[in-house]
Amino acid sequence: MQLNLNEKSRATFEMILQKGRDSWPGDEGERRADRLEAVLRRVLPEYANALDLSQDAVLAALEGRRDYSAINFYQDARLPSLRDVHVHETMAEFKALIPSGTFRCPACEGVSTDPYECNSGVERDGSVCNWKAFGLFGTLGKGYRTLVKETFLDHPTVHEIFMPIDLEEDEPSKEGEPA
Ligand SMILES: [Zn+2]
Repeated sequence: MQLNLNEKSRATFEMILQKGRDSWPGDEGERRADRLEAVLRRVLPEYANALDLSQDAVLAALEGRRDYSAINFYQDARLPSLRDVHVHETMAEFKALIPSGTFRCPACEGVSTDPYECNSGVERDGSVCNWKAFGLFGTLGKGYRTLVKETFLDHPTVHEIFMPIDLEEDEPSKEGEPA
C-alpha cells in the first residue's frame, strides 16, 4: 500500500523523520529515522484502509495524541499490524456482541467484569489475581484486540483487552469435549 498524503501531512511526516535524526548523532540518527519511516509507511495506509479514513486524518489523530517522543510513539508494539485486530464501527456495536460483559483473565483463567484489570477474585501464586491487560506481558497472546472506528480519532489506539467470554466459542473446542 502506498503513502497518500497532502502537503501538510507530508511536512508532518518529514518533521517526524527529522526528530529521529535529531535524537542521536550520525548513523544511529539515520537508523532511527529509517525505523520511523518504516512504521509510518506501514501504519498510515493500513489504518486508513481499515477505518475508512484518509491517511491525513490518521496521521493528524496520531500526532494530536502523541505526548512523548516520536521514537517511542511510532513503534510496532504500539501500532501493531491489524491482521488479528477486530474492527468495530461503534462501541455500542461491540458491546452488543458481548452481552454478558465478562472477560477471561489470561493469567488466572477466572472471569473478570473488567476488561483491563482482573477482578475475578481467583487466587494465583498465593494472592488474589490482579493481572492487567496493559501490563508488561499484556494478555499473554490470549486477549482480544480491537479498533473502534467511532472513537479512533479521539483515541487513536488499538485496545487490547481480556477475551470476552461471549466470543470464546470461536475458539476450537477442547479435545474430548462433546461437540
Ligand atoms: Zn486473573
